Formats: sequence, C-alpha cells, structure tokens
Amino acid sequence: MGNRNAKVILKKDIKRRVFNGHPWVYDNEIEKIEGNFEDGDIVLVYTFANQFFGIGYINTKSKITVRLLSRKPVEINREFLKNRILQAIRNRYSITKENAYRVIFGEADGLPGLIVDKFNEYLTVQFNTLGMNKLKNLILDILIEIFSPAGIFERTEGSSVKKEGLEEFSGWIYGSGPELIPFEINGIKFLADTKGQKTGAFLDQRENARKLREFAHDKICLDCFSYTGNFGMHLLSGGAKHVTFVDYSERAIEVAKEIAKLNGFDKDRTDFVVANAFDYLKSSYEKSKKYDIVVLDPPSFAKSASSRDAAFKGYKEINYRSMKLLKSEGLLATASCTQVVSQSEFESILVDAAIDAKVLLRLIYRGGQPVDHPQVYNILETMYLKFLILQVSPINN
Ligand code: SAH
Repeated sequence: MGNRNAKVILKKDIKRRVFNGHPWVYDNEIEKIEGNFEDGDIVLVYTFANQFFGIGYINTKSKITVRLLSRKPVEINREFLKNRILQAIRNRYSITKENAYRVIFGEADGLPGLIVDKFNEYLTVQFNTLGMNKLKNLILDILIEIFSPAGIFERTEGSSVKKEGLEEFSGWIYGSGPELIPFEINGIKFLADTKGQKTGAFLDQRENARKLREFAHDKICLDCFSYTGNFGMHLLSGGAKHVTFVDYSERAIEVAKEIAKLNGFDKDRTDFVVANAFDYLKSSYEKSKKYDIVVLDPPSFAKSASSRDAAFKGYKEINYRSMKLLKSEGLLATASCTQVVSQSEFESILVDAAIDAKVLLRLIYRGGQPVDHPQVYNILETMYLKFLILQVSPINN
C-alpha cells in the first residue's frame, strides 16, 4: 500500500460517468500512468488538469483499469475500510436485525469487488477483483471484529475472477462450519450450500417471495429455475396445496428436498424435478397441465449488450409458455436479473408474450431489490432485478 502510489492521469474529454459518482475508470479513459505499480496496487487518480480526483486500485488486465474507493485524498487502511463496512451496515436499516442478509454489495457500497453475505452466525465472502483480493486480510480482520462469526467461507469463483487474473478459491478461511449452513428468511428455514451457486443462497428475492406467499393458500404451483426452492418454500409456508420445483442442477434439487424436510412440509405437497425448465414448460403444456401460480426466476440471460437479443427471446419464450399453463386468473411471478435488460424492456417482452398467448395481464405487484442489495442510480450496474406478479386471464373471457 505504501505512500508512493503511482499516478493515473485521466484523458481530457471523457464521459461524465466517473465524475458523477461511478467508480469505474476504463482503459480508454486513461491518458497516462506515472510511477511504478503492480496490478492490484492502490493508485492515485488525477484529472487531465492535474487535479487530485480519487484513490482506487488498478488492474491493467481488466478493461476496467481502476476502481475508485474514495474521492478524497485518504489512505486505504483498516480505519477507512472499517468505516465503509459500518456505513454499508447503516444503509441496510432494519434488515440487519434479520438472521440473514447481504452485508456488502460491491460497488453499491463503495467497496468494488467485495461481496459479503451473512447466514446466521456465518459469513460467506467473494473477492472478485485483484485489488480487493489484496485487501483480504484487512477485510477479514474487520469482519471478525464486527460480527464475531463462527466461520467465514470464501467463494471466489466465476468468469470475472479469471478476467482479473485471480486464482479461483473456495473454502473456509476463518473458523469452520457445515457444508450446508442453516439460516432463516421470513420465518422459513433454509440452507446456504457452500458447494452451490454464488455465495450459497440468493438473498435478493426475500421481499418478492414474501409478497407472493400472500397468494399461496390452496394453490397448485410451479417454481421454475427454483435453485434450492426459495419461492416454492414461501408458497408452501403460505399454505399452497402443491409445489413442483424444477431446476437443472441435481444438487440444487437435492438441497431443496432437505429444506422442505427441515420445514416439515408434507411430502405429498411437493414434487422435485431435475430438468431443463424450457423443456419442462413445453412438455407440461403438451400434457395440458394447469397451475394457479407459476414462478420464473431464471439466471441472467445476457452478460453484455451484445447478447440482449438472445435474452429477449429467452424471456419471451418462458413467459409465453407459462401464460399458457396458467388457469384463468392464475398468477405469473416473473423475474429478470439480467442487468442489461431494463425494467421497461422486460415489461414490453411480457406484453409481447401476452399478445401471442392471447391473455390479459393485470399488474398485481411490482417488486425489485431489497435494501441489502442497494441500488445506486449513479451506478446502473447495481440495478439488475425486476420482479412482477401478474394476473393472467384469457382475452375472450
Ligand atoms: N429462485 C432461486 C434462484 C434461481 S437462480 C432463489 O430465489 O433462490 C437460477 C437457477 O436456474 C439456478 O439454480 C440454475 O441451476 C437454474 N437454471 C439455469 N438454467 C436452467 C434451465 N435451462 N433449466 C432449469 N434450470 C436452470
């Protein structure tokens, strides 16, 4: 970290984005770099006019060459990082009273590259950039001081990690804990799978699933792209008559079964299916199956603007098929976590699908990200989750 930081000088006429609070400096926005540095080091950023602009970390292997940590001439030390983490916790308001929540959401909390989820007395962390990885020991020390966790599990994996030139890593880095970490959301027992996806469980649908539960009583439901069954468990806890869980990950479905057992949900109220959801929706229609509630929570369909068309097509298909599977006045709970597809684009895809399916869509609920996945307007990349509950009925009713 030292105090002889290299100096990154911005080009003269760059977009306003970075001046308006966005932390990313792209390689093509840099005029020159003065001084020595290694990738992952802390650097100082100056404007073209040689005015101090901010401090951040650098990685020339990434198109996002600098990620800013502060716009003040501070030192990036333990005190700075601790204040950032405490600020993130304050920004979560009352959600911190809950048993599980996202403690740090990267850029949205002024800590680019860092993800921290709390599951009961455990934390799972991701260091997704080289620069944040270099701060790992300081961050762990602070998290241990604040939370006194029983264990911290690190899950640094995925395509972005490789892009950063980082080694993938997964394992307990402080204390230890079970492979499946028990936690609770909305009074339902869950398990975060340390060998599963991302940090083990998705915490971003907590409010949407709680809302959907209000409509569950006596309903026949289908939870597609269920992962370990978040939505379906909410439906069961709300009194659903039956839920079919569909995911193509065998492991996710096994963990979902465990979770249903933990909550004491009767076996004949559930079916667990390992299948491609696209195929499952199609064959269910061919078999004339009907549901009161269909949930769609697929993974991101496009990582960049270039694959948006494919994403549109995917959304249209699964939503169209689900509309066809619903009983009259059934509910479609449909989500999109593709950041490059906007709210209004997502809604127009649904309208397109409804036209083809010849149904009326009545908006029952429009949800999004909870406060532990903060959405910063200045950093569009932090806004990704769209969620709607739509009542679906035939046009010629
Ligand atoms: N609804 C879940 C999160 C779903 S994440 C929750 O709230 O926790 C998306 C899931 O879709 C993952 O579990 C992944 O395994 C699954 N998946 C991705 N593509 C699929 C496909 N074509 N068919 C079935 N499942 C798929």
